[in-house]
Amino acid sequence: MTSAQMDGQPARTAFDVDQYERRVREGPCFVCALVTGHPDYRHHVVHEDDDSIAFLARNPTLLGHCLVAPKQHIESWVRDMRQDGFLRFQGIVYTVATALAATLPTERMYSLSLGSHQGNAHLHWHLAPLPPGVPYHQQQFHALMAENGVLDVDDEAQAALARDIRRHLRG
Ligand SMILES: [Zn+2]
Repeated sequence: MTSAQMDGQPARTAFDVDQYERRVREGPCFVCALVTGHPDYRHHVVHEDDDSIAFLARNPTLLGHCLVAPKQHIESWVRDMRQDGFLRFQGIVYTVATALAATLPTERMYSLSLGSHQGNAHLHWHLAPLPPGVPYHQQQFHALMAENGVLDVDDEAQAALARDIRRHLRG
């Protein structure tokens, strides 16, 4: 099932949840694979430093949906990070979020940590800019759930968006 197209967003297309689940539960850690350059886990990177990496989500439900992750394989921010490291990491989350908001019309910047010990265990922070004008019942969790369809964006468009975000990060 897919939902109606939001203004300014590409149309949503059905998402194969079962195939996705197999990939994340049986495949390698997708963040570690990206950091070490695994060819099947390339993403459009918008920020990288010694400790963290930020990149566009491969199956976005909102344009500009980004993930920010520590490069080190940490699974729990409450157990595995000290407060100073966490605040440094959140500084990167803030910087990427402001660049996203400067790149795309943003009514609300969603920010959350999900993941599962059964798949996608590597700590990562979701940033997803909600555009203006989305009806209330299509906001919040509805807007984020791949079960409601993912955006039909091609790789070239995502590469161009990543370039725009990087430009705002530098500015
Ligand atoms: Zn990892």
